[in-house]
Amino acid sequence: TKWTKEAIIKDAKEKNVRFIRLMFTDIAGTIKNVEVPFSQLEKALDGNMMFDGSSIEGFVRIEESDMYLVPDFDTWLIFNWHAEEGAGRIARLICDVENTNREPFAGDPRSNLKRMLKQMHAMGFTDFNLGPEPEFFLFKLNDNGEPTMSLNDNGGYFDLAPTDLAENCRRDIVLELEELGFEIEASHHEVAPGQHEIDWKYSDAITACDNIQTFKLIVKSVARRHNLHATFMPKPIFGINGSGMHFNMSLFTEAGNAFFDPETDDQLSQTALYFIGGMLKYARSFTAVCNPTVNSYKRLVPGYEAPVYVAWSEQNRSPLIRIPASRGNSTRVEIRSVDPSANPYLALAVLLQAGLEGIKQELTPPSSVDRNIYAMTREERLAEGVNDLPGSLREALKELKKEPIILDALGPHISENFIAEKTMEYFAYQRHVTQWEVDKYLKLY
Ligand code: GLN
Ligand code: MG
Ligand code: MG
Ligand code: MG
Repeated sequence: TKWTKEAIIKDAKEKNVRFIRLMFTDIAGTIKNVEVPFSQLEKALDGNMMFDGSSIEGFVRIEESDMYLVPDFDTWLIFNWHAEEGAGRIARLICDVENTNREPFAGDPRSNLKRMLKQMHAMGFTDFNLGPEPEFFLFKLNDNGEPTMSLNDNGGYFDLAPTDLAENCRRDIVLELEELGFEIEASHHEVAPGQHEIDWKYSDAITACDNIQTFKLIVKSVARRHNLHATFMPKPIFGINGSGMHFNMSLFTEAGNAFFDPETDDQLSQTALYFIGGMLKYARSFTAVCNPTVNSYKRLVPGYEAPVYVAWSEQNRSPLIRIPASRGNSTRVEIRSVDPSANPYLALAVLLQAGLEGIKQELTPPSSVDRNIYAMTREERLAEGVNDLPGSLREALKELKKEPIILDALGPHISENFIAEKTMEYFAYQRHVTQWEVDKYLKLY
């Protein structure tokens, strides 16, 4: 649907919408919103709602704090949260953030992704599509409504009830997402106990990132109704799989999927190979953005289906880049390092940049590695040109800082704020004394 201002106001009246949440995402990836009553809807739709950006983490300096929220009409959505009788309903609009001079605000991740998409259009591509595969854990709440570390079930991959106690919760999540217009393609228990995955149909980059944000909100709120806490923390429990958010990406031109070529042996186009070449070349530099927490690096270790090495494969599931078997318009490149703590708009901006650079620089990737990389020695890996992904947030930040091409995909405002914030986070963690150290050293020394 293509919404207009008039159609939105009419819909809001008909469906008794009382409050409208004007949503945007900050640099950390957190959804922020300014809620306005129905009386302000017209003003909001005209893009005249101001807010004070200085109150948002990493968003602006104090002296340039006035910002406009400019809604994207096509994100009009009425939540089906059942407000009390007669209280009316709540709707949302996802917004771009503009400065008082009506330029896109450089610290707005969504506007920044649009800037990158313009560069892509200039190269002759019409669309960058994304199909994400977010994974999450469900933990029980205690009597005070606080999350505990007790898992909700003991199920495993594709298990069915009665092991899968979270089945009702997941089914409710799926139903609610479907009511909100998500086309759910798969919903299943993941490998770890208490872990789940829900996949929906791919869409263009901006819509897909908006959907990821909406998805997280719905998963958390439905879980709460089931007395559960849903977490997108990448590695909540040592010793079992963590949660990833694989990104299935494809570039389109007027002629269709630019990664598909029926004439080649593997039906991958030269464009697809260059795109992969770019991913591999810049993988170490974009990891900080796709895996932005200290905890992210507890997931990127051998043994838990998460990537550890910079390689691609058409078969094996262990590498960073995998090419799923489907061809034609579904031909896509799957990157498996991204985790759900990433800001999707920022992650997609750096991944797009890496892929486009691969195309511009005509980077032919080394031949795909179709053996189990985890079974290879470091010497064997290096002989095949397989590097390691950064092992910590600190190492990843160092790599990011020295790669102007990836910094460029974030722009100076976001990259400076991101690096400053994340460096502080790393050092706060580094100074902390963990249980592991106490267990290891307290008696030993
Ligand atoms: N949970 C795994 C990860 O951390 C992925 C498992 C899978 O979907 N194959 O990425
Ligand atoms: Mg999957
Ligand atoms: Mg999975
Ligand atoms: Mg996958």
